[in-house]
Amino acid sequence: MQKCEKCHTPFTWIEIFKCQWAWGEKNNLIYCKTCDTEHKLIGESKIITNFFMIPIIILVIYLINMELFSSFFIYLLVSFLAYGVVSTLFPFFYRFQSKYHTNYRGKS
Ligand SMILES: [Zn+2]
Repeated sequence: MQKCEKCHTPFTWIEIFKCQWAWGEKNNLIYCKTCDTEHKLIGESKIITNFFMIPIIILVIYLINMELFSSFFIYLLVSFLAYGVVSTLFPFFYRFQSKYHTNYRGKS
């Protein structure tokens, strides 16, 4: 898990997990709990996690082909649940940058 680029306090899984569900201006921003430095999720992280959507889409197409459920709503629910489960892995792939990034020499 990534550390704060200023004071090297590690971010926790729950902090990172919560930042992706935040609304508005706080979305994809994380604040160090020790020094309050703002860190922004870098775009590449989002591209990596988008690849996790592929198995979900394949799963849903497979379920539709199996004709397991009669209602489209259930497929929607299944895809939402699958996304919820998969998104618990996202904090391990997310990388953040702060204004201290150029001075940062820590290992991620
Ligand atoms: Zn810090």
